[in-house]
Amino acid sequence: MAIVQSASKCPYCREEIVTGALLCKHCGMPLVKRQRKKPPFWRSPYMLGAYSGVAFMILMIYLYSRIF
Ligand SMILES: [Zn+2]
Repeated sequence: MAIVQSASKCPYCREEIVTGALLCKHCGMPLVKRQRKKPPFWRSPYMLGAYSGVAFMILMIYLYSRIF
């Protein structure tokens, strides 16, 4: 959630509004930009692939250490 910078004033009508309000009580405009949440870097598909690769390598190292 990205709250507009001037939280104490409506960016549309410049009227005073309560900080954290979702809608301006004066003009009714939404004050919170609806953005699709970007997944954090460590949860991206690329990192999931890297994790599985690392897990596979650890498994292989474990198996080799058991054999030799
Ligand atoms: Zn307003």
